[in-house]
Amino acid sequence: MSKALKNFVAGQWIGSDKTFDKISPFDGTHVAVVHEASAAMVEEAVTRGHDVSIGCDASRWGGLPMKQRLAVIHDLADKLMAHVEDLVEAEVADTGRSYWQASIFDGARAARLFRAYADAAASLENRSMQFSGEMGFRGMWYTTRRPKGVIACICPWNVPLLMACMKVAPALVMGNSAILKPSEETPSSATVLAEVIAASDVPEGAFSLLHGFGAGSAGEFLTSHPKVDAITFTGESRTGSAIMTAAANGLREVSLELGGKNAALVFEDAHMDAVAEGMTRSAFFNCGQICFCTERAYVHRSRFDEYVEMMAGIANGIVIGEKNHNGFNIGPLIGHGHRDKVKALMETVPTHGGEFVAGGGIPSFGDERDNGAFIQPAVAVGSPEDSPFVKQEAFGPVLHVAPFDDDDEAIALANDTQYGLAACIWTENLSRAHRVAPRVRVGHAWINSWQIRDLLSPLTCAKASGVGDQGGRQSLEFSSLPQTVTTRIFEENPACP
Ligand code: NAD
Repeated sequence: MSKALKNFVAGQWIGSDKTFDKISPFDGTHVAVVHEASAAMVEEAVTRGHDVSIGCDASRWGGLPMKQRLAVIHDLADKLMAHVEDLVEAEVADTGRSYWQASIFDGARAARLFRAYADAAASLENRSMQFSGEMGFRGMWYTTRRPKGVIACICPWNVPLLMACMKVAPALVMGNSAILKPSEETPSSATVLAEVIAASDVPEGAFSLLHGFGAGSAGEFLTSHPKVDAITFTGESRTGSAIMTAAANGLREVSLELGGKNAALVFEDAHMDAVAEGMTRSAFFNCGQICFCTERAYVHRSRFDEYVEMMAGIANGIVIGEKNHNGFNIGPLIGHGHRDKVKALMETVPTHGGEFVAGGGIPSFGDERDNGAFIQPAVAVGSPEDSPFVKQEAFGPVLHVAPFDDDDEAIALANDTQYGLAACIWTENLSRAHRVAPRVRVGHAWINSWQIRDLLSPLTCAKASGVGDQGGRQSLEFSSLPQTVTTRIFEENPACP
């Protein structure tokens, strides 16, 4: 029997008379009935969140000494670790990905984020300084980091648990109230997360979970609420723009991680075995649904044919739709709506003069998986650089490949996009790698690798890929308000010789 997923508001599980169905992208079966949060629930979550972070009841959370709050977070991290299997199960049910992937990429890694953020917050130093000011006064100032208040955490569906934890953990650690709005496509792992938080010592109201959609639903109600003090959002660039507009009312702070059309540059001296391993993951991991995934590969002309043949062989050999496969494999796209979008983009390839050397279609299994949202991993050549397939984010397992002749041309091709999220540089010449990296306008450049990532490293986005920084110290700073306190020092004071 499928589950009923409710909202968690001010310590209570609340149902709604408005519901929607979560359908499995793996086989079309019914996963859950999801209760959509109303405007009244958003109001209650925000009001109570304000009270316990910076309002009348702040002594219960925002006003707690950091050490006490971090003890609660460490205990929560232990509880999450104890529920890793439930988290993995929820992620597999919503996304159709394999247990292998959900275990290595999502489950425990997400739970560890709470511990990592608590440790990082414990080592945040406060600054202080003595000074001589105007008219001969002496003084001393110090800064402390105060909670910002209510932080709305609006998440996408691609790595739902990880994204939720990357936003909720730093918000809670710094004494804010976190209100999580997961994607309507992936409500399950957020619900398990809320269940674990409900059973922890995080006080009632410091965390709320609201299910629903964006425009005209929980997402918009939340981001346009004047008592939401900051918004951290990951999703499409178009949605980011709508959220920034909503946040302008009241001048509330935003952190936006948005879309990408990431390039890989494969130079003539690249180590092709390493490229094969790295690009299998960078083009196809999670069925191409990672914001850092590579959708464009520019390859030195001398290695172009070799590379194309290699990537076509890799794409054709990928295991698809085996939930219990214990090695690299891909599941479906998140749903039929998204598959229609990816498929439509793929259909533009032949009409613009390109051709597929692998994939380009829908796989047939002859069983219930044919009701799922699977797609074949695809490699295409010959598409003009101004064609939709090269310009638009697919967020699927697709790779455009084109040749270049020198470093300047490679860099120009990589930068010829509205986005600026990530890039990979494949070369055995490290001087070249470090020369090229700063010329590619992206927030994160990998050299001879992809997605080797410390989750506390800064994530910055250029151009239409985002606004503000996240990750580690940046997320803790976004989640707090530095306050400066200045006091006068009286020189004749015997306590200050
Ligand atoms: P999306 O923008 O459609 O939705 C993301 C979230 O925003 C969902 O929870 C949705 O309900 C909510 N939302 C939609 N409209 C809203 C509105 N008007 N007001 C408030 N909330 C609203 O994105 P998606 O389809 O879930 O995710 C895929 C996108 O996310 C891709 O573009 C991908 O590149 C991007 N992404 C970026 C990063 C990054 O780090 N830069 C990471 C993961 C995903």
